[in-house]
Amino acid sequence: MNHNLVCCQQKTEASETVKKRNTALPRSVSRARAITLASLIAAIFITIGIFFFTGVFGGKPYTYTDNTKVLLYHLVSDETYGPNEYLFVRVADFEAQLAEIQRLGYKTIFADELVRTHGEPCVVITFDDGYADNYTNVLPLLEKYDMKATIFLISDFIGAEGHLNEEQIREMQQSGHVRFASHTKSHEKLTSLDEEGIRLELTESRRRIESLTGESVCALAYPNGAYNSTVELVAAECGYEYCYTTDRPSEEHYPNTRLPRSYVVRDMAMSDFLAILE
Ligand SMILES: [Zn+2]
Repeated sequence: MNHNLVCCQQKTEASETVKKRNTALPRSVSRARAITLASLIAAIFITIGIFFFTGVFGGKPYTYTDNTKVLLYHLVSDETYGPNEYLFVRVADFEAQLAEIQRLGYKTIFADELVRTHGEPCVVITFDDGYADNYTNVLPLLEKYDMKATIFLISDFIGAEGHLNEEQIREMQQSGHVRFASHTKSHEKLTSLDEEGIRLELTESRRRIESLTGESVCALAYPNGAYNSTVELVAAECGYEYCYTTDRPSEEHYPNTRLPRSYVVRDMAMSDFLAILE
């Protein structure tokens, strides 16, 4: 009897201990969950912080110390038309500029190859708007000097008077010297559009260019160089990894949604051109 009683007492003690443990368990579990949740929130904030610090949403910052220069052209032609004569670089001047790029030992890369420079001195030659002279006057010189250039097309203007047509675009792309990227669908200033309008300009132009060239498009030049934080965010969301402005480079680092370019204009002195490459 006695023995049974002790056993009973032990059982009671044991069951009380279990009860205590059972009541203590949820507290330690919720504490662990709280710590995990806090770590998760901290990790998210740190990640967002890193993304904002390094450029919009994870893009590797474009570093001028990498010795990469980005040139902005529109037309290469002796003849001019319209009010913006400064946009027409003379053919002989363009050739002299390519010769200098070569003499100085720069390698030319496409607008979407910035992260692959590995610190080598590189030049990105870009053309905005997709004018027809890019086929007649620029392509032969790119072939002669074995150089690369990127042309930012306005997709609604493909085949329009004075602009590149589908056949020319395909031939240029197949030459290996030219890659095509987006200058939007209609050349509307993106800062004057709402988010939906910006998204339409960016996705429609890319769809048209990709279906024409069979190559993916991840570089963009903002029409008139106009951008704001909404434009940058939508461009990044739409998958554009390299977005070019018309801002002159003045800083050492830039996020990939705000890449600066140096304008090359008609009758620019060679000393001014060489200053860009310094
Ligand atoms: Zn333009």
